Amino acid sequence: MPDPRQVELSLPHSAPHAQSFADVAATLGTSPDIGLSTEVATQRLVEHGPNALPSQPRRTLAQRLWPQFANALIVFLLAGASMAAVLGHWVDAGVIALVVLVNAIVGVLQEGKAESAMEALRDMLSPHARVVRDGTQQVIDVAQLVPGDLVLLEAGDRVPADLRLVSARSLRIEEAVLTGESVASEKSSEPVAKEVPLGDRASMAFSGTLVAAGQARGIVTATGTRTEIGKISEMLGAIAPLTTPLLKQINRFGRQLTVAALAVAALLFIFAVSVRGLEWIDAMMIVVALAVGFVPEGLPAVITITLAIGVQRMAARQAIVRQLPAVETLGATSVICSDKTGTLTRNEMTCRHLITATGEATASGAGYAPTGHVRLADGRPPGDDMHQLARIGLLCNDAELTEDEQNWLVTGDPMEGALLALAYKAGLNAQAECDSHPRKDLVPFDAAHRYMATLHSTPEGVSLIAVKGAPEAVLAMCTHALGADGHQRVPLDRAAWHERIEAVAAEGERVLGFAFVRLPEPRTHIETADLYGLVFAGIIGFIDPPRPEAIEAVADCRSAGIRVKMITGDHAATAAAIAKQLGLAETPIVVTGADVSATTEKALPDLAMRADVFARTSPEHKLRVVQALQSQGAVVAMTGDGVNDAPSLKQADVGIAMGHKGTEAAKEASQVVLADDNFASIVAAVNEGRTVYDNVRKVVAWTLPTNGGEVLAVAAALMLGITLPMSPAQILWINMALTITLGLVLAFEPPEEGVMRRPPRQPHAPLMSPFMLWRLVLVSLLFTAATFAVMAWGRWRGLEIEATRTLVVNTFCALEVGYLFSVRYLHGSSFTLRGLRGTPAVLYAVLGVVVLQLAFTYTPWMQVLFDSRSVSLPDLLIAIGMGVLLMAVLEIEKTVLRRLDWFDELRAPG
Ligand code: ADP
Ligand code: MG
Repeated sequence: MPDPRQVELSLPHSAPHAQSFADVAATLGTSPDIGLSTEVATQRLVEHGPNALPSQPRRTLAQRLWPQFANALIVFLLAGASMAAVLGHWVDAGVIALVVLVNAIVGVLQEGKAESAMEALRDMLSPHARVVRDGTQQVIDVAQLVPGDLVLLEAGDRVPADLRLVSARSLRIEEAVLTGESVASEKSSEPVAKEVPLGDRASMAFSGTLVAAGQARGIVTATGTRTEIGKISEMLGAIAPLTTPLLKQINRFGRQLTVAALAVAALLFIFAVSVRGLEWIDAMMIVVALAVGFVPEGLPAVITITLAIGVQRMAARQAIVRQLPAVETLGATSVICSDKTGTLTRNEMTCRHLITATGEATASGAGYAPTGHVRLADGRPPGDDMHQLARIGLLCNDAELTEDEQNWLVTGDPMEGALLALAYKAGLNAQAECDSHPRKDLVPFDAAHRYMATLHSTPEGVSLIAVKGAPEAVLAMCTHALGADGHQRVPLDRAAWHERIEAVAAEGERVLGFAFVRLPEPRTHIETADLYGLVFAGIIGFIDPPRPEAIEAVADCRSAGIRVKMITGDHAATAAAIAKQLGLAETPIVVTGADVSATTEKALPDLAMRADVFARTSPEHKLRVVQALQSQGAVVAMTGDGVNDAPSLKQADVGIAMGHKGTEAAKEASQVVLADDNFASIVAAVNEGRTVYDNVRKVVAWTLPTNGGEVLAVAAALMLGITLPMSPAQILWINMALTITLGLVLAFEPPEEGVMRRPPRQPHAPLMSPFMLWRLVLVSLLFTAATFAVMAWGRWRGLEIEATRTLVVNTFCALEVGYLFSVRYLHGSSFTLRGLRGTPAVLYAVLGVVVLQLAFTYTPWMQVLFDSRSVSLPDLLIAIGMGVLLMAVLEIEKTVLRRLDWFDELRAPG
């Protein structure tokens, strides 16, 4: 082998597809068996850089600012400002310009926050690759791959770099991203002609393509921008726009409001000039301010923030949102269809029972530690048939056990890890067995067939096929059973075996069947015909207890009106027993995949709604079940991990992929990825999703009436021909001061008590409920009434008009703070200790309002700018009192309405 440090790694320019893999390996200074050494890999990473495509450069400040100005309202405002400036109204022009600027800056900051939240998530989802380095399997970040690395592929993987295949078993790769060809191409390790186009380079697996089936190993020939996909697209796609159905609805609503506001402003303008005889520029300033006050221009940004905060909170609870709309949908989820193994259960398998034709044995020990014993019922050590059973489990196995300081850990399938531990417990010399039975071929496990088979050569020079899988599937391949001496074949009593399987499964144990056959001649491939006429060796029962937190989460779902359905490939009796332990139902209704297949399209929705457990299902059944549930109006969250789960994950309202055991294909088809594969995290995400929706509604419920109140008070004064309660500049001030303080805080609200005791919301219910419309009217009127009351107070006290207006502005801020506290608890009472203490966000915002208002009222330059006056403390207390009064009135209103039971959402939860 040449010194790896000296090799010229220029393979992409040569033609690795046309060379033998041995030549490619030699050129790249690597080995097709043990891969690179960690040392060489580290060094190459420095030379070649990370295996990644450069991401799109972040937008510049100007690029971020520009869209903030590109909307009708801002153009209207700027026009007003220029007109004011031309006519020498410098203060008004300046204030308007300031408002526009502050608005834009707040907008940019909010968007930036939302974007970085999404970017952080993308980093959490960075893909991994399985490699062999120093002869051992490792999982590393895709970015760490270097030329020469030996990569392992299996169905559902996204190919992490350009690879020259070293071995391939029934490998098919979908290369649409590269060649546009949607049919998956067959691959093999044989070299092809040098001139063939990309699509025909069967000896290569290209970065970015998807493994549809099979398994393979390959040597990395190119990384990063030097890969074929890197040559086509030098840039990683832009960040997906942050939009969701809710945001679209709100944007549309905002545009409609803008149009309405401009129309009303025009009418008011005509009225003010012709009927009230105002100077046109004064009238203009008033209506501009009113239009700005009315349009909730900050709403979309605040809602984006609310969603982004929801995304962050979900991530903190192990649910990574890949697509923003999922945040909303999660909150409306009414059915969760969950995997069993690893999601509802721990996926920490331990072999407990071994059953052969002649007897039964129990294995002791916990975890994956190879300590413990296998003992027959009478305490004797196991016989040859038990050894053969354990041997098949050892050979037909892809897992590895490793020991760290405290624990034995599995790489690979936990069930297979348990079988490795069992081999030791049964007294086999595992290493020697594996060395003397080298593996020649493999039929990988597949959720549709539910078995796995391996071919080995034996020390006697013949071949051995070892099979393990779902016991029915394995039994169906067998014609004989194994006798007590571990060699002799005895007749197969299928009925007796089915009984034993049922009995073990009914205990909640996962049951696996094992079979083998000796072929007289040495072989290198498993033929289909070989997998019939096998000898049944027996069954093994594994315990895999439910996760304690899943039991709690299931209970939460029940109180939250969410149905939980288990969808599993496992045996019906096992699934039913686990479902019972989880509390899915007293006596769970179990339906099998075969039942689903036998049910007509018309009868399925009813069956799907009734069933608690779907057992022995394959991925196609999942798709039908989701569709059936959706036809009944359910909002379905569905979990999945395999490559074949992609269609049902896409079909579900919220597709949820497993972060650990999930394939890349499943993750890409999902909207949410669970970092810990845990059912409880789904329920936590639903909780957060409901909170987000509540908060969005609170933001809207706060914004609209406060804007409305301001406009109504001024418009009413204008119509009635009395002194205006605020000057245009002051209207703009209120708008700006509150946008940057109170406007944001509702996004940070924690879940209200009882979020998980309410039924799921109706998926198509409008955002503005009847109660919110009622509030819009009531609160606007109360604001107007309070404004006029303070005006009257000012006159009675003999204050000059400027001082009275200063009071009105302060009153307004107090009202808005008061209403904010009220709206925080749509579902409960606001007058609680918790309600008054508020969140840090609320307290900072109120502090902000106070500081701004003190400046507005008492600093000389603000007094010049806004024509405000210092007011006395008693007067100020009147203003603050108005806010408290409003809160009290609304609290009484809530109680009265709850008694009357007019509005659904005021009903107490649970
Ligand atoms: P689950 O829903 O419990 O994750 P799977 O679809 O993974 O179920 O598996 C379905 C059945 O296939 C299992 O009950 C088991 O009998 C069998 N099986 C699972 N994994 C393997 C494997 N690695 N080798 C052989 N058989 C397996
Ligand atoms: Mg599984």
